Amino acid sequence: MTDHGVDWSSCVFIAAAGGRGLRAGGETPKQYRRIAGRSLFEHTLLAIGKAAPGVAVQPVIHPGDAELFQQVAARVPDTIQLLPCCSGGGSRQQSVHAGLEVISEMGFKNVFIHDVARPFLSYTLTRSLMKALDAGSAAAPVLPVTDSLRLQLNGSSQAISRDGLHTVQTPQAFRLDVILNAHRRAREAGRDDFSDDASLAEWAGESVTLVPGDPLNTKITTPGDFQMAEMRMMSQLADIRTGSGYDVHAFCPGDHVWLGGVRIPHTHGLEGHSDADAALHALTDALLGAIAAGDIGVHFPPSDARWKGAASHNFVREAVRLIHQRGGMIAHIDLTIICEAPRMGPHRDAIRAAISDMTGVEPDRISLKATTSEQLGFTGRREGLAAHAIATVRLPLPGGESA
Ligand code: MG
Repeated sequence: MTDHGVDWSSCVFIAAAGGRGLRAGGETPKQYRRIAGRSLFEHTLLAIGKAAPGVAVQPVIHPGDAELFQQVAARVPDTIQLLPCCSGGGSRQQSVHAGLEVISEMGFKNVFIHDVARPFLSYTLTRSLMKALDAGSAAAPVLPVTDSLRLQLNGSSQAISRDGLHTVQTPQAFRLDVILNAHRRAREAGRDDFSDDASLAEWAGESVTLVPGDPLNTKITTPGDFQMAEMRMMSQLADIRTGSGYDVHAFCPGDHVWLGGVRIPHTHGLEGHSDADAALHALTDALLGAIAAGDIGVHFPPSDARWKGAASHNFVREAVRLIHQRGGMIAHIDLTIICEAPRMGPHRDAIRAAISDMTGVEPDRISLKATTSEQLGFTGRREGLAAHAIATVRLPLPGGESA
């Protein structure tokens, strides 16, 4: 794709995510921890998609994270050109090298090497790196040190000058053949201690063009960084929408009903083209309603034989996918089921867990309520049941910095 003269199709991003990220705390590796409703990894892939539209992305992951990564890949919109992931090595340098070898024969000219822990990279930054590659073969963003510095050694410390000192960010951009050769030479020389690729390129004799870094392109390392990122991203998801959905199905002969994705034994079944899960149908409509994307009948026409007997979680998953494609998150779900029987209480937590699984929303953001209609109307006469859903969805503001 050509983008104002920038040809991103000749470029590939390496998304380096091979580390364990233990300083961030928690049991899940930090790349897969959630910020504002989705994983750090997803946020960074989405940001790459905006900062380099149409660029291919080579993910490099820890061999133990294949399952976690699969969830990431499933939730990333089709606009991100995700290449099959590869496994990293024991150090950051080895992981990047592994990714470079995988993409070496794919015909790309330039490579951007980026740490997945930086979800705030910007279009301005990728463009200035790309411009720097017009004249050179390596470029890195740097920021001048603004804090005063002290050197601590052997129990004492002394002030040192910050003049000329810079911190280095990612992405760093290279001609692919140049950085690949540099990595191969470093391996042959037994060097495995480079903390970034610009310093490795420099060791190999390349000159690195420095471009102004972006103070907002912060790296997420500590629990405090996660909190700060959550605040930044939530403040961008400020277009708050509410959708409602309503559905009814009639009872028919049978011995169970499906409600909220859970099979519940009952004296009757529910009549319908799919599995007749009124709760999930109402939820699907609420989610679609929040993004003004029509209703369940538009996306899954009953006239289509594909949906005969279909499990209704598929409908919910599609609505969730559409929300994610808009860069949005589901902030809350409130479901009410109206029937005389079956009783919902015993199944409440199972249903919340099932909906959490199909939406990716934490159970404490999923409410399930049940009521009778005091034996009035069709639900009171036990002819059928009804479900009502309200979904709150947060979408990014136009021109937002993230998501
Ligand atoms: Mg229905």
